Amino acid sequence: MSHATTLRCRKCGREYPLKPLNLCDFCLSPLEVNYDYKAMAAAVSRDKLAAGPPGMYRYRELLPIESDPVDIGTGFTPLTKADNLGRELGLDNLYVKNDGLNPTFSFKDRVVSVAATKAVEFGFNAIACASTGNLAASVAAHAARANLKAYVFVPADVEAGKLVGAAVYNPVLLTVDGSYDDVNRLCRQLTDKFKWGFININLRPYYAEGSKTLGYEVAEQLGWRAPDCIVAPAASGLLFTRIWKGLEELAMLGLIDSVDTHMFVTQAAGSSPIVNAFNAGSMHVNPVIPETIVKSIAIGNPADGYYALRVARQTGGGGCSVTDEEALAGVRLLAQTEGIFAEAAGGVVIGSLKKLAAAGSIKRDQLTVAFITGAGPRTQEILTDIVRPLAVKPTVASVEELLNVSA
Ligand SMILES: *Cc1c(COP(=O)(O)O)cnc(C)c1O
Ligand SMILES: [Zn+2]
Repeated sequence: MSHATTLRCRKCGREYPLKPLNLCDFCLSPLEVNYDYKAMAAAVSRDKLAAGPPGMYRYRELLPIESDPVDIGTGFTPLTKADNLGRELGLDNLYVKNDGLNPTFSFKDRVVSVAATKAVEFGFNAIACASTGNLAASVAAHAARANLKAYVFVPADVEAGKLVGAAVYNPVLLTVDGSYDDVNRLCRQLTDKFKWGFININLRPYYAEGSKTLGYEVAEQLGWRAPDCIVAPAASGLLFTRIWKGLEELAMLGLIDSVDTHMFVTQAAGSSPIVNAFNAGSMHVNPVIPETIVKSIAIGNPADGYYALRVARQTGGGGCSVTDEEALAGVRLLAQTEGIFAEAAGGVVIGSLKKLAAAGSIKRDQLTVAFITGAGPRTQEILTDIVRPLAVKPTVASVEELLNVSA
């Protein structure tokens, strides 16, 4: 049995039963899973957690699930000390959390696994989502694993690699003529019509909880401590808030000392409503129309933007956006220094990290973790112009001639 007790409105505090619900009836604010932390604290210890399976369900006691999880092998991805990249950026204590190494190549497997498990518990026989691409693949994969039907909705201009990455699991794949924000609005309307578990709509409070495991893992992998600084991307802003919530919970449970992490939120300049608000000193996130190649995080009207902004503010962190060119340079820099091929969202994180270090917002000795949330091969087409092979004949002479010429 989990230690989840109710759903609670983040604004007015009203409580609701643990059902497929995501908004408060009174103030329309998002609902969040509420736990019996006393019981949870009694059930967990560092040793017990460390002895668990090498995946996200080592933290099962901290998640709102009652049954065996729908698990395709997600979590406990590497946290790498990034000395080469750190040297480039002037950071002596830099780590990269490579969450592109999940089964469907993005951190979305964490959130979908929890939501799909709840979908089974609630008796849905189909799961569905509005997606910028990565979520579609993860939902389709978890549906396959759980013998559920999957309906995935994506904007028609999504990258080809993302369509293949979802289609291979055989969902009902629907491309929508519109932006992600249009897809999301459509899916909210469909939630009232169809008895489907919409992973990021009516199952959203449970979905959200999956992201906390990223915070737990990083703290455990650092030897049970919170980083000084975290740099992470935001689309809806949910992941960013939940990394923080994960750390706060560990402190509340006495598993780490108090958390003094500065949280830096990053977005592509062509879709940066949260960073814009941070830089304007405002608490109001004004929607934008996304225009960027970084499609996986291109949400113009972020559902959790306000809460992400609040985390960045409260923690003495910051906000940073980069151009598409800077994001691509970030992808190449990470690959060329650490051998990690991230998708464009990772380029946004690395490009922003570079700026934050140069500006002194992140200091040389601070223990900093950069979050890579998706893997590169899905969106390779954005980098095709870096491929400039040297063409030779299949003879030694040809190779020698060419290398002499080009050396
Ligand atoms: C979905 C996604 C995010 C951010 O997700 P939110 O929780 O909506 O902010 C970040 N990176 C990648 C690669 C994603 O697919
Ligand atoms: Zn409310």
